[in-house]
Amino acid sequence: MSSECKCIIFIGDGMGGRPVPSLGQRTTIEAASTPALDAIAARGESGYLHPAGIGVPIGSDTAHMAILGYDPFTYYRGRGPFEAKGVGIDVRPGDLAFRCNFSTLQGRVVTDRRAGRIKSGTDQLAQAINEGLRDGIEGVEVIFRQSVEHRAALVLRGEGLDHRVSEVDPHEEDTDYWECRPLPEAADDTNAVRTARIVNEFVARSSEILQDHPVNKQRAAEGKPMANAALPRGVGTAVDLEPFELKYGMTGAMIVEVDLVRGLGTYLGMDVIDVEGATGGADTDEYAIAKAVEAAWADHDFILANIKAPDLGGHDGEPLQKIQAIEKVDRAAGYLLDALDWGRTALLLAADHCTPCGLKDHSGDAIPVAFCGYGVRPDAVVSYGERACAAGSIGHIQGPDVMRVLSSFAGRAHKFGA
Ligand code: ZN
Ligand code: ZN
Repeated sequence: MSSECKCIIFIGDGMGGRPVPSLGQRTTIEAASTPALDAIAARGESGYLHPAGIGVPIGSDTAHMAILGYDPFTYYRGRGPFEAKGVGIDVRPGDLAFRCNFSTLQGRVVTDRRAGRIKSGTDQLAQAINEGLRDGIEGVEVIFRQSVEHRAALVLRGEGLDHRVSEVDPHEEDTDYWECRPLPEAADDTNAVRTARIVNEFVARSSEILQDHPVNKQRAAEGKPMANAALPRGVGTAVDLEPFELKYGMTGAMIVEVDLVRGLGTYLGMDVIDVEGATGGADTDEYAIAKAVEAAWADHDFILANIKAPDLGGHDGEPLQKIQAIEKVDRAAGYLLDALDWGRTALLLAADHCTPCGLKDHSGDAIPVAFCGYGVRPDAVVSYGERACAAGSIGHIQGPDVMRVLSSFAGRAHKFGA
């Protein structure tokens, strides 16, 4: 039976936090009503997780890499490659990938970084860019693809490229967009100098193409901001990551609301499952997500699920909003406690990082976690939270431990030695 045991990592994004004065110094997890999360802790082994090492604040993308056993310090080369993979570009090792915004320019001045959050026509704009630049720039292939709203991705493919170049998107409005330059440490590097030149050429030529495009003529006629530029940022070099199934011998599914993490899943060859009603916001349908996990359980060995909402409450510095989001995570967990065969499931309940409301950003704090299900030896912890999990038997674990511990519970680990 154990060889058939499935593994689940169930994440409330940014769910961990710090004591909140207005909550009587409880954390938002401690203040929330979480019968299901508590039941997981009561049935399981609790502890603390440090995805990228003790005290390291971490992003959602790098945290998910670390939790899946891909060392972000080795393999993370910026957000661009995941973004590009997430929008469907066939990213290959060595490609340079950027995130882009369709923006509104007047001359060099960025008047709207998101082109009025353009909703339609970006597929036609992207097609025009690809056609206009089909011969590439300086022998480098240019691949551009729209994402949702104003977002897009750019891939440069060819010899002699270097990721050590600066951003073009100025990250604020009513200011000039930035010229791409080699970073100071690569100022004399021929490839970095050439890459910066190619990026600047891309911005100039794509702006020309977009300026006269029918989609923009119509937007101008309707009084909407034109999407007359595509401004790159977040450059990264695509690396070769071992596919999840090869690395672990398990078929993997990802049910997540964060685009970058979805891109990571695609990158790792996992099935990235769309869930209707999973909005990535405070209004997300937690039952739809839980049901998608239940469905994926039937035909995958491993599932990673993530509900984004708690992180938003943390960034907004709104404890009550975060509590409501954590209670959504609890309801999804409760559904799974009822729905799954726990004689054939090992689950880790976790966050990818803490997002304390008082900080409005990710902290390097330890994340409360609890393992439950097949193979798990229950400890004395009976509730889920920052204080409670500190007393758990699993102690302090780091990113590379997660898949080892889960695989061991599930009877899927390979014995070391005779
Ligand atoms: Zn996160
Ligand atoms: Zn966040």
